[in-house]
Amino acid sequence: MRKRHVSDIILELDITMLSVNDIRKKYDKTSLVKSSDYDEHIHGCMICMEPASFPVRCTTCKLLLCKSCADKCMKQMRRCPKKCTEDGKWKLMQEKPFNIELNCPYDKRCEEKIFPETFNDHLRSCSFLPEEYRNVKFEDELKK
Ligand SMILES: [Zn+2]
Ligand SMILES: [Zn+2]
Ligand SMILES: [Zn+2]
Repeated sequence: MRKRHVSDIILELDITMLSVNDIRKKYDKTSLVKSSDYDEHIHGCMICMEPASFPVRCTTCKLLLCKSCADKCMKQMRRCPKKCTEDGKWKLMQEKPFNIELNCPYDKRCEEKIFPETFNDHLRSCSFLPEEYRNVKFEDELKK
């Protein structure tokens, strides 16, 4: 075994502390869309500009958002990003997922079906998981 340098160890620590969200940020889901009928004006989220995941719609202005993006707006602004309602009176309805299929961000040979709703799971379960993510201890996303 070769001698380890301090810089190697720091690098390893960095990798171990990556979360799925850190990896997520490296891949833009829009560029991974496989479905040819994808239309960002119909299926895209206004906040992250990517295919909406677990889509929800503002009951007032009909704005479409990912569930997680809507949760963030709810926490930060307590209303629709379009400011269509008064503070604290924002109502959302759940939409059926659009079945927008995505390509695997890691490898073209991956044949798994991936959707915006399963994308995060795929980032850690893909059989083509890149070497540099092998040691990542994936944090549970619900635990913040
Ligand atoms: Zn979004
Ligand atoms: Zn609205
Ligand atoms: Zn894959």
